[in-house]
Amino acid sequence: MAQAGRDHAVDMVNVPVARASTILFENLADLDRAIRDPDAGLYYGRRGTQSHWALEDALTGLEPGAAGTKLFPSGVAAITTSLLACLKAGDELLITDSAYEPSRTFADHLLSPLGITTRYFDPRCGAGIAEIVSEQTRAILLESPGSLSFEVQDLPAITQVAGARGITTLIDNTWATPLRLQPLSLGVDISIQALTKYVGGHSDVMMGSATANAALWPRLKAATYRLGHFVSADDCTLALRGLRTLALRLERHEASALAVARWLEGHPAVDRVWHPALPSHPDHALFKRDFSGATGLFAMVLKQGSRPHTAALIDGLQHFGIGFSWGGYESLVLPVELDRIRTATTTPLPGPIVRLSIGLEDPADLIADLDAGLSRYMAQFA
Ligand SMILES: *Cc1c(COP(=O)(O)O)cnc(C)c1O
Repeated sequence: MAQAGRDHAVDMVNVPVARASTILFENLADLDRAIRDPDAGLYYGRRGTQSHWALEDALTGLEPGAAGTKLFPSGVAAITTSLLACLKAGDELLITDSAYEPSRTFADHLLSPLGITTRYFDPRCGAGIAEIVSEQTRAILLESPGSLSFEVQDLPAITQVAGARGITTLIDNTWATPLRLQPLSLGVDISIQALTKYVGGHSDVMMGSATANAALWPRLKAATYRLGHFVSADDCTLALRGLRTLALRLERHEASALAVARWLEGHPAVDRVWHPALPSHPDHALFKRDFSGATGLFAMVLKQGSRPHTAALIDGLQHFGIGFSWGGYESLVLPVELDRIRTATTTPLPGPIVRLSIGLEDPADLIADLDAGLSRYMAQFA
């Protein structure tokens, strides 16, 4: 019975969910061939099965200039492993001040005891990165736009300086996905995504990916394997399923978010809207130059009040869940406190920041919901 049904993997549209730990070899010669070239085919479950290769190949295919992709149990694991692949004791890492907070925590708490120092820099430094790098700088972690404050970074200017000095550049590309920004074509070495967000798209899978150019691919691949990272074949199937509809979903996220953002910009309670596709955004020109479009995550700054006041706005919303993550079909809202996180830059603001992830609902419903919420907010100051 152990052999029953093993040969059913052909002729279906989708790659079957290939769960495996042990892979069986025909004979010793077959085993020895596999040991000589473990990447040539199935070897051992931790090295992946058809389910993993299907997703990895699809992600690699989305990024011109990519040599390969590795999968991780979370977006954070993709970031931490990519950093470990590029750094050693005595090296310095530069991180944009707009980076995802757990990326900073990893550098401050786990890289630091390994003898790798970290400095944070202004995301808007552009070619000024030349004055920020030191002799010890070996890697720069970018994130554009930042997922709380939405600064767009001048990637070609930064990668040009880094490339000339042999410094590796990595980017957290979760906001844009490769459908809106292709960082490797702009000189970045490793492009990272939290697949948890838009690729998964349905708030039911945690996964990360890192896609490298030919120069960094061997190191990324080796570090991933040596750290023992593995994701389940079932989750690969979910992520691949999400990827099939990503382009369509992003069109809707983008259009609805822009409609909501434009409406918010005209609202008397709103000081400014941080959405890089709006002409009012300070980095709009850079955004238009490098990105092929937007997605559905942005923030607004209110004209008055402080975080406790935002409960009047947020608690009564009907269509926005309160929660972490984003990129799913459902809209989410989150108050943001930059000052608690930042160390290299400050932005004086008149009121609290509220981040919105615009889902696939009817944008008219979302606008009506926010309209009522902002009226509740303003009533506190009447
Ligand atoms: C969510 C997120 C991550 C981390 O992804 P997880 O899968 O939650 O670990 C990394 N970067 C950004 C910008 C994110 O929003």
